[in-house]
Amino acid sequence: MGKPGEPSAAELRRIAENWLWAFSEALKEREYDRVARMMHTDCYWRDLLTFSWDFKTLHGIDEVKSWLLKTFDLVGAYGFCLQGEPAIGAIGEHSETLEFFFSFETRIALGRGYVRLVGDLNSCGTLPVFTILTAMSELKGFPEAIGRNRPREDPRAASRTLDNWLDRRQAAREFRHRDPDVIVIGAGQSGLMAAARLGQLNVSTLVVEKSERIGDVWRRRYRSLKLHNEICMNHFAYMPFPDTWPVYIPKDKLADWLELYAQSMELNVWTKTVFLGGEYDRSERRWTVRLSVADGGTRTMRPRHVIMAVGVSGVPSMPELKGVDAFGGTVLHSSGQSDDLDVKDKSVLVVGAGTSGHDIAQDMHMRGADVTMLQRSPITVVSLEPSSVRAYEMYRKNEGVRPLIDTDFIVASVPYDLLRRLHGPLSREMAHEDKDLLDGLRKVGFLLDNGEDDTGYFLKLLRYQAGYYLNVGASDLIIEQKIKLRSGVRIERLTSRKAIFSDGSSLGLDVLVLATGYQPLQEAVRAMFGDEVADRVGPIWGIGSDGELRNMYARTRQEGFFVAGGGFPAARVYSQYTAMLIKADLEGLLPSL
Ligand SMILES: Cc1cc2nc3c(=O)[nH]c(=O)nc-3n(C[C@H](O)[C@H](O)[C@H](O)COP(=O)(O)OP(=O)(O)OC[C@H]3O[C@@H](n4cnc5c(N)ncnc54)[C@H](O)[C@@H]3O)c2cc1C
Repeated sequence: MGKPGEPSAAELRRIAENWLWAFSEALKEREYDRVARMMHTDCYWRDLLTFSWDFKTLHGIDEVKSWLLKTFDLVGAYGFCLQGEPAIGAIGEHSETLEFFFSFETRIALGRGYVRLVGDLNSCGTLPVFTILTAMSELKGFPEAIGRNRPREDPRAASRTLDNWLDRRQAAREFRHRDPDVIVIGAGQSGLMAAARLGQLNVSTLVVEKSERIGDVWRRRYRSLKLHNEICMNHFAYMPFPDTWPVYIPKDKLADWLELYAQSMELNVWTKTVFLGGEYDRSERRWTVRLSVADGGTRTMRPRHVIMAVGVSGVPSMPELKGVDAFGGTVLHSSGQSDDLDVKDKSVLVVGAGTSGHDIAQDMHMRGADVTMLQRSPITVVSLEPSSVRAYEMYRKNEGVRPLIDTDFIVASVPYDLLRRLHGPLSREMAHEDKDLLDGLRKVGFLLDNGEDDTGYFLKLLRYQAGYYLNVGASDLIIEQKIKLRSGVRIERLTSRKAIFSDGSSLGLDVLVLATGYQPLQEAVRAMFGDEVADRVGPIWGIGSDGELRNMYARTRQEGFFVAGGGFPAARVYSQYTAMLIKADLEGLLPSL
C-alpha cells in the first residue's frame, strides 16, 4: 500500500508503461522533437555504449536532441519493456520521482535502462524525464558464460581424453606457444575484475603483476588498515564477499581475497612479472610488449589490447628539497616500504596531509615514533561515520534488499554533474555533523576546506583522487597533539639532522616521509609507452568536458589501450563495458577510431 493520496502500484505501473510506450514510439519514428518534449528542461541522459560505443552524458534538451540526431540512426533501439515494478523515490530538489528499469535492444546489443520521471504523479499528462540511463548489457551473440550460460561439460567426455580441468588450467596460464588477446598490467582489484569480465566473454587474457603474490599491494600497507567504505559497496564482480565478513574489511583479509578471486575466476596471472613497456603497430593493430618474468628472463608478447590497471601509484611525485643530499637520516616516499623501518623513539616528519600522509603518521605514531605532520594546503576532513557513509547511502539502504547489480545501475544513473549538485548541500550537512571534529582540528591549526566549489570530499575524489581524508583515527591523534602539526609553512632546506622551515623554525629529524602524492596517471603511461601514446591518450581521471571520467574504462584515443582503476564499485561496474568493447573489437563489431 502506498501513502494516502499516492497512486496505487497498478497506477504507477500504468504511468510507467504509457511513458515507455510513448518514448519508444517517438524513437521508432525518429521524432526527436517528440522525445525532447518528454524531457525536463534540466534533464540528463547518460548512455554507456549503446548508442555510440562510448560513455556519454547529455544535459538539457538541446544536447539530447542533437545527440539523438547524430547517433541514434546508426543503431536504433526497439523492444522497450518495463522491468520489475516502478517505485517512488526522490532526488535533490525533486521530492517525488517515479523510477523504473526497462530493457531494450539495438541492432548489436541488449540494453538496460533506468529512468526518473518527475512532476505530479496524479496528473494525467506524460511526466518529464529528469534522468535516464541507457546501457549495453550484452553484445548480441556473445552472452557472458554465467548462470544458465555457465560452461557445461559432459562428465562422460572424460572417458575420451586424458586432459582434465587442472591440466587445461595449467596450459591456459602458461601461454607457452601463444599470446593472449589482452594483457592487463596490475593484479589489484581493478585488473582482476577486468580480467574476470573478459574471461566470461571468452577473451584470452593475461594479468601481469610485479609483486611476489597477488594482494601484496595491500599486505604491504600499514598493519591496522581496514577498508574505508563499508562492505556493502566493495563487493567483487561475480563473487560477492561472504555474508559473515565484517563491515570494514581488514587489509590482509582483502589481500587473501584477491588471490582467492584470481584462483576462483580462473584468471591467468603471472606474478613477479613487470610490464616494461610497449609499442603499438597500427597496421597490424597489435602491441609489442616487453615483460620481465619471474625466472629473471624477458618475454615479448603481441596482444591486441592492453589494460593499464596500475592504481594511482604510477610515478611518485617528489618535491625538490634543498640540502637533501646532506641529510643524514632516512628519506622515503609514501609509496616505498616503511614497515621494516625501526621508528621507535625517532623523530619523523611526514610531508603531506592527504590520506597517505595521515595513514603513515598514524602508523608511525603507533610504532612509537615522535611524529610531526607538515601541511601545505587545506584539505577536506570527513568522519568515517556518520558522514562519509552518507555518500553511499544507496548501497547501505539496499543491502540485502535489492540485488547489487540493480543498486549499481541506479547509482550509475546519476551523472557526475548531478552528483556535483547533490554533493553541495550533502557535504555541508556532513560538515555540520562533523562540527566537533572540524573545530578540534581548526584549534590545533589544521587547514580545512570543503572543495573548490563547496562540494566536499566526494567531488575531490572524482576530480583528483586526492585532497581529502576520511578520519580513521589520525585526526583524533592530531587534535590530541599526539601527532604534532606544522601548517602553512614549507621546508626551506635540510641540514644533516634538521628540517629548517620557511618561518625560520626547525625540527630535529631522523626520518622524512614524503607523502606528496603521485604524478598524474598520464605520466605513468608516458613512462611505459612513450610520449606519443601518452599524448594521444591525454589526461586520465577527473571529470572531462563530456561529463564523464576522463579515459577510464572507456575507449581512449589510442587504439587497443584502456585504463582501469579507482574504487571497488568502479571496477565492478565499468569493467563490464571495457570487456564488451574489447570483445566487440575482437569480433569485428567495433568501428575504428
Ligand atoms: C587505506 C585505503 C582504504 C581504501 N578503502 C576503499 C574502500 O573502502 N572502497 C573503495 O572503493 N576504495 C578504497 N580504497 C581505494 C582503492 O580501492 C584502492 O586504492 C585500490 O587499491 C585501487 O585498485 P587498483 O587495482 O586500481 O590499483 P592497486 O591496488 O594499486 O593495484 C595495482 C597493481 O599494479 C601492480 N603494478 C604496478 N605497476 C606494474 C608494472 N609495471 N608491472 C606489473 N605490475 C604492476 C602493482 O603491484 C599493484 O598490485 C582505499 C584505499 C586505501 C589506501
